[in-house]
Amino acid sequence: MDDEFDIRKEIIENPDKELETKLRPLYFDDFSGQLKTVENLRVFVKAASMRQEALDHVLLHGPPGLGKTTLANIIASEMDVKIKITSGPVLDKPGDLAGLLTGLDEMDVLFIDEIHRLSPVVEEYLYSAMEDYRIDIMIDKGPGARSVQLKLNPFTLIGATTRSGLLTSPLRSRFGINSHLEYYDSSVLNIIIKRSARILDISITDDASVEIAGRSRGTPRIANALLRRVRDFAQVKGDGIIDMKITKYSLEALNIDKNGLDEMDNRILLSIIEKFGGGPVGISTIATSIGEDSGTIEEVYEPFLIKEGYIKRTPRGREITQLGYKHLGKDFRGEQNRLF
Ligand code: ADP
Repeated sequence: MDDEFDIRKEIIENPDKELETKLRPLYFDDFSGQLKTVENLRVFVKAASMRQEALDHVLLHGPPGLGKTTLANIIASEMDVKIKITSGPVLDKPGDLAGLLTGLDEMDVLFIDEIHRLSPVVEEYLYSAMEDYRIDIMIDKGPGARSVQLKLNPFTLIGATTRSGLLTSPLRSRFGINSHLEYYDSSVLNIIIKRSARILDISITDDASVEIAGRSRGTPRIANALLRRVRDFAQVKGDGIIDMKITKYSLEALNIDKNGLDEMDNRILLSIIEKFGGGPVGISTIATSIGEDSGTIEEVYEPFLIKEGYIKRTPRGREITQLGYKHLGKDFRGEQNRLF
């Protein structure tokens, strides 16, 4: 496959906001998969609503495109409250945080995406806001500087992160609810694709939907974006209906690997095979060899490769499985040789 460009990386890094908003489920009932997480959240939301209290602060973590922002919006609509949305890198001054917090009504939700990227000063301010619903702000500079305490309405902070390993422990410990989102099985992605096709008024056959689901790297964001791309091909090269033939043609043209792995997945697998004899090898060694951060590999890439059975974790490091060799068209004897 092409090493230079992977459309799914592009989809993850530059999501089509308009499409996402259109396809975003608004209530738990429309949200497929993540059964355990959703079941728990339903209970917590219902209990808080019955008590007419703000829901506990929620931390949602997991790889990009799996539904963290969607769940934050759902929580707010199920609680029937407003949501304000911001992100760690944008919120760089304590004054900005104070402005957002003081604008929240009772029980409202403040959603901070990429919360691991908050500046330490802003994070410090957040502690008292989360714990006691108050915030101390400094007024004036120099000798006249004084601190004023503002009382806030009880609110819910929902933090989302792809890298929970980077959260400081004081911040992490202030979240009462902590949920991890997993990669989706392709049967669930199939349901998501059919729902999206209905909303976008796209005709798609059952087998075509299954095919797109299998190539979406366990990620609804990718599934939805591929559906749209394939529709373009169906319109221009076919009769507008997405069937198996046009789907295969389009995914081929888009350079999408049959098993749904992306360029980085393939680089990780290749590096373990070619540079480390198939493993076992430590995560930081793999990271150095492909020039990626080891935490990103561990929290964003590896979980999918393990879930799909391409790599396994052993006490001595990561090892490629037979499936991993097969995927890259490599000879599994490589691994057997090491046993002798
Ligand atoms: P994240 O915040 O984790 O990066 P988003 O919540 O923005 O991901 O989800 C990306 C897109 O995928 C959105 O358009 C959303 O509608 C869709 N999506 C995510 N999870 C689901 C789901 N469980 N069911 C249906 N659509 C989903």
